[in-house]
Amino acid sequence: MTFEIRKVTVLGTGVLGSQIAFQTALHGFDVTAYDIDEDALTAARDRFAKLAATYRDEVPGAADGTADKTASSIELSCDLAHAVADADLVIEAVPEVVSIKQDIFKRLSELAPERAIFVTNTGHLLPSELKDFTGRPDKFLALHFANEIRERNTAEVMGTPETDPAVYRAVVDFAAAIGMEPIELHKEKAGFLLNSMFIPFTNAALGLAVDGYAEPEMIDKTWRIGTRASMGPFQLLDIIGFNSAYNALSSGNEDEQRFAAWLKENYIDKGKLGVATGEGFYRYPANNTTEA
Ligand code: NAD
Repeated sequence: MTFEIRKVTVLGTGVLGSQIAFQTALHGFDVTAYDIDEDALTAARDRFAKLAATYRDEVPGAADGTADKTASSIELSCDLAHAVADADLVIEAVPEVVSIKQDIFKRLSELAPERAIFVTNTGHLLPSELKDFTGRPDKFLALHFANEIRERNTAEVMGTPETDPAVYRAVVDFAAAIGMEPIELHKEKAGFLLNSMFIPFTNAALGLAVDGYAEPEMIDKTWRIGTRASMGPFQLLDIIGFNSAYNALSSGNEDEQRFAAWLKENYIDKGKLGVATGEGFYRYPANNTTEA
C-alpha cells in the first residue's frame, strides 16, 4: 500500500510544534495546527510571526513574502475533531507527559480518518509506550525533530515492531520533503541516536566542570581544537537552554542530580538560562533570535 501525504495536522503549537508546522507549510503541505484553547492559539500566532521573521532573514527562498504567506497559510484550531478530520498525517508535539500523550492518541484514534498516519515527536519515550492508544499501531511511529529545525534538520524515524514498513517509508519520504535529513533507526532506542550520544557527552563535560578539573571555556576549547568541532559541550548547552537541561538532569541518576543542582545554583537562580536569556556559560548579544 502507498500513502499519499498532503494534509498534515500538528498537535501542540509550543516550541517544537510551531516549528514543525511552519517548516511543513513552507514546503507546500496543507497544514492545520491544533492547541488546547484560544489563548494557546494566540500564542501560536505570535510564534508563527516570529518564525516568519527568522525564516525571512535566515532561510534562502523564504524572503519575498514567502515566509509571511507560510505563517498565514497555517490553519489554527482548538477543535480536535475539525483539526484532524481530513488529515493524512498527524504529528504529535504535546508536552512530554505520558498521560497527556496517551490521552490525545486515544481521542485521535476515534477522530482521525482510518488512512491517517500518526507520529510522535517525543523526546524521551519509546513509541511502544504509546502505540496501544493509537488504535492503529501499524500506522504509528516516532518522528523526532531537534530544536531549531530549520538549521538542525535531523528527523529521527523510529518505528515499533508493529509499524508497517510502507508507513515507515512514507514518513522518511515526508521528512525529506520538508527539508529534513531523515535518520533511520532499525529499532527502538530511548534517546534516539542523537541524544544517546549527546547526553553522555554533555554529562562528561559537566562532570569535569562541576568537579573542578577545568572551567567550561577550557573544556569547550579542548573539544574544539582536539576534534575540529565548531562548538564545545557548554556552547551547545547554552543553545538548548538550562531549563530543559535541568529538567532532564534532575530526574536522572545521582551524578546527574548533582549536575542539576550545580546548574541551578550557579546559573538558573541568577537568571542565566543560556542564549535565550542573553547569558549562560557565555554572554550573547541582546537581539538574539533563538526561540528556545
Ligand atoms: P511546549 O511546552 O513548548 O509545547 C507544548 C504545547 O502543547 C503547548 O502549546 C501546549 O498548549 C500544548 N498542549 C498541552 N496539552 C495539550 C493537549 N492535551 N493537546 C494538545 N496540545 C496540548 O513543548 P515542546 O518543547 O514543544 O515539546 C513538545 C514535544 O516535543 C515534547 O514531546 C518534547 O519532548 C518534544 N521535543 C522538544 C524539544 C525541545 O527542544 N523543546 C526537542 C525535541 C523534541
